[in-house]
Amino acid sequence: MQTSQDAHSATKQNDASGYTKINTAMLLAFINRLLSATRGIDNELNVEVAKLKATLERSASDDELITQIKQVERQVMLHPTVLSDTLKTGDSATVQAAQSLANLLQHDPKLTAELQLILAEPKATAVASLQTKVQSLFCIYHSAIKNLKMASNGNENITSAVHKKICDDLQRLINELDFAGGFGSNLKKIRQRLLQGVENHELVDICLQIINNIIEGAREERLASKTFLHAIVEELNNIAYKFDSSLVDNSNINKKQLSLLEGLKERIDILDLDISTSENLEETKLHVQQGLEIISSTIQQQEQLLQEKILLEQQIQAVQKQLEELKKETLLHTQRLEAQQHKLYLDSLTQVYNRTALDERFKLEFKRWQRYQTNTTIAIIDIDHFKNINDTFGHIAGDKALKIVARALQKSIKGKDFIARFGGEEFVLLLAELEPDKIQVILDKLRNTIKSIPFRFKGKQISITISIGATRFTAEDKDAVDPFERADKALYEAKSSGRDKVIIKH
Ligand code: GH3
Ligand code: MG
Ligand code: MG
Repeated sequence: MQTSQDAHSATKQNDASGYTKINTAMLLAFINRLLSATRGIDNELNVEVAKLKATLERSASDDELITQIKQVERQVMLHPTVLSDTLKTGDSATVQAAQSLANLLQHDPKLTAELQLILAEPKATAVASLQTKVQSLFCIYHSAIKNLKMASNGNENITSAVHKKICDDLQRLINELDFAGGFGSNLKKIRQRLLQGVENHELVDICLQIINNIIEGAREERLASKTFLHAIVEELNNIAYKFDSSLVDNSNINKKQLSLLEGLKERIDILDLDISTSENLEETKLHVQQGLEIISSTIQQQEQLLQEKILLEQQIQAVQKQLEELKKETLLHTQRLEAQQHKLYLDSLTQVYNRTALDERFKLEFKRWQRYQTNTTIAIIDIDHFKNINDTFGHIAGDKALKIVARALQKSIKGKDFIARFGGEEFVLLLAELEPDKIQVILDKLRNTIKSIPFRFKGKQISITISIGATRFTAEDKDAVDPFERADKALYEAKSSGRDKVIIKH
């Protein structure tokens, strides 16, 4: 191997033969290449080579040149050790990273297999092989991060969709129950909380609260009904007893009156005989006297019986009054029960039919259509960007808007048509006997009716628009769900094509 000393003397030799200038230039070119080769790989070596270049450029003394060449040489000798250390640390860091990743990716067989390949590779003995190893590891990291992100995005979506559905369902449940009293107002407060938005972790507690209030509310209503029935039964027993004894009393009085009359008749007959057989006026007078006494006492007894009868009549009148009262109360209770029954089908906020009523009516209309094939149209109506109204003006304003929209929809339909709140800010219309070519016109009219309502929130004039998806029952529909899904798809199209639209699907 040629030493720096040899190289220097070779330069000197060429100096003498006239090639000095060219060789110095060649040497400088070589050093420049060396400089770029060592840049970024070995900084110390790079610095020493740069110094050698500077020494050569300023035509320094031979000694200076030799010292600098030796410096470069020392650094070159060190280079393999530095490189091998770097390779060793790089390789073990790569293996460690691969192992940690393998632990995380146990559920992903494809990426785990790729990682096993990296782990099975021999130790890197050259920069190039370490680089390939690191690159493969990076690729796996990249895929793993991508997969994780997709999974977490998906999860978030599912979670938020499920969360929204639970909140909507709970709200609807509360709306449909409509309990009176303390439990009713507790449920209304819970509904407001749901509307204002709750976190996932609060849902369990809210569900429990709703269940508790429903159980207690139902118990209270049952208890009230039971107490009422008990009171009625007691009252009826009471009346029945009084009535019974009045009847007994009455028949006793009648019997007494009869026997009194019988007795009187008997006495009069006897008196008659006495008078007719009396021998003188004195005797006759005595008999008449006795007769008068008998009559007078009978009249007295009769009067007493009459008094008793009057009393009895008064008692009977009182019982009748009691019965009337009872009748009134029972009627009120029946009316309350009927109202409750009706309430089961009404949405408490908007006072249009609720989902339960819709389910029943929808099935009925479908059956009717299957039997008679009369034109039946279903339209699903959804208020556009309703969340913005809640977010900007509060849910109480939102509630009011819902009521107004529901009332306007209700007013716009004909007697045979049916409207129900399907949930949240969605309504379903069932239109009977509507000619196919009129559907668009009618629904557009409805859409414009809502649009032209001059809503005012916090002094701001706002117009609310609705999107409508509609369809007719067709011969291909095997189940009531089929037209519903078609209308829902139409609604989706109305929404995605810009809202404030009516889309009809056939
Ligand atoms: P889109 O145009 O896509 O229908 O947008 P949107 O904001 O109307 O629809 P989204 O389903 O995102 O939001 C519906 C909102 O309706 C969210 C919910 O808070 C609100 N909402 C549902 N029920 C009620 C209610 O009874 N009262 C009030 N105030 N808001 C309700
Ligand atoms: Mg909606
Ligand atoms: Mg909406």
